[in-house]
Amino acid sequence: MTTPIPNLIGSQWVLPEGVTQHTEVFNPSTGEVIGHVPLGGATEVDAAVDAATQAFASWSRTPAPKRAACLFRYRQLLEQHFTELARLITRENGKTFAEAQGDVRRGIEVVDFACGISHLGKGESLPQVAENLDAVTTREPLGVCAGITPFNFPAMVPMWMFPLAIACGNTFILKPSEKVPLTAVRLAELFVEAGLPAGVFNVVQGGPEVVDALCTHPGISAISFVGSSAVAEHVYALGCRHGKRVQAAGGAKNVLLIMPDADPDATLAAILGSAFGCAGQRCMAGSLLMPVGERTGDEWRERISEALATFQLENTSACDTADMGPVIDASSQARIRQFIQDAPVAGAELAVHDTTRCPTQGFFVEPTVVDGVTPDMDLFQHEVFGPILSVVRTQTLDEAIAVMNQHAYGNGASIFTKNGAAARQFAREIQCGMVGVNVGVPAPMALFSFSGWNRSFFGDLHVQGTEGVLFYTRQKVVLSRWDSATVRTLGW
Ligand code: NAD
Repeated sequence: MTTPIPNLIGSQWVLPEGVTQHTEVFNPSTGEVIGHVPLGGATEVDAAVDAATQAFASWSRTPAPKRAACLFRYRQLLEQHFTELARLITRENGKTFAEAQGDVRRGIEVVDFACGISHLGKGESLPQVAENLDAVTTREPLGVCAGITPFNFPAMVPMWMFPLAIACGNTFILKPSEKVPLTAVRLAELFVEAGLPAGVFNVVQGGPEVVDALCTHPGISAISFVGSSAVAEHVYALGCRHGKRVQAAGGAKNVLLIMPDADPDATLAAILGSAFGCAGQRCMAGSLLMPVGERTGDEWRERISEALATFQLENTSACDTADMGPVIDASSQARIRQFIQDAPVAGAELAVHDTTRCPTQGFFVEPTVVDGVTPDMDLFQHEVFGPILSVVRTQTLDEAIAVMNQHAYGNGASIFTKNGAAARQFAREIQCGMVGVNVGVPAPMALFSFSGWNRSFFGDLHVQGTEGVLFYTRQKVVLSRWDSATVRTLGW
């Protein structure tokens, strides 16, 4: 048996007692088991909530500049351990080393943002809002907050949540994906090393049982969730029913719309990065390619096929130059291959699909392009979360926008063109929350909120940016009346 992955409760790393069930953690590049997660539940959540509640009393009263000082120290440690963290992600998630570095970098950018809490947390004021009456608003922390995260960004997604929540004066319980628990452990160890008081940050490993215990625990004020839409909807409903503030980001199906005048080289690089980066396991992956016009479609099919012919799939924990790594596990691999197998049956055509490209070990899936996908097909309607690019042919920009606007999801959409009017029409009419113009992955950086719409997001305030600060705080309005006549009465 491999090493069990512990929980952080208060200042102690502990293993749950009496738990017999566990899940295995793999190196997806080789299929080797590299750890296991004991599947705890309500008992571990109770212990974490107790520790976080105790810590809240003093952390919430700690002056914002002192909280920020701890985040500055954390930031420095993250930089010092940048390569180590990226290697860890590569090992447990399978991303290429470059992608893993991006994962850590995007997370550090949230810490950068949270370091500004003394400014971000300021309220508003209006003296003399009425006769002798002054109004001041403050933003107060909520209490114990919890975050539940997916496997695909082991550093960035947890860091969308806990640095800002903690900067705002809350205490936090992280439930990382049971598929990638190791990065979360290291992120927490470094935060403790930065001087965070015991109990401000806690980690409870596990699966759905821990999630449900967090969503129903009376001691938790707010839940941040990122994962698939089905689970997001469940967490949103359960958390709200139990009186919590909830933000729940879900799955996606993002379009890359190619106009006839798109720049060939820059657009090709953007398509390859968006569709096949992280082996297609990104909620902002461009998984639908919509070339406008028959000729545009033929040209781009050829260009992409040619580029993929030299794509290298490698064991990312042994090779830093791989173009693409594996998917997360064997069940993902089988699910994605089923989509590929079903596509011709539904009437689409496998334009690029070469199974001989995959290393024999690990959970690899060949980069695949499927042409002739139509809106009634599974490949259009469902999130595949793997390296499949589906080509949906359209004749006009109006038609392309109308087809995409039927979609249930609403995360991202990008247009590639040199025409400002086409770009403007697309940005104004497309019904999703994050739009790219000549940008393959229009994921906003930490300064802006991650603005999914429709079935890609349940809630009101999104993660990151100013909405993140609003989510992790609540407003108080203080009205003060002081009549200067009383001072004169006293003869002062
Ligand atoms: P997932 O929904 O399977 O798991 C996410 C979290 O929910 C994990 O911590 C897991 O333990 C927990 N969970 C799983 N099943 C559960 C259940 N039945 N009840 C309660 N909790 C449960 O997602 P995943 O496979 O880890 O990640 C991929 C998904 O995440 C994709 O759909 C992707 O689009 C989405 N995602 C979305 C965003 C975004 O910002 N919208 C970002 C990253 C990933």
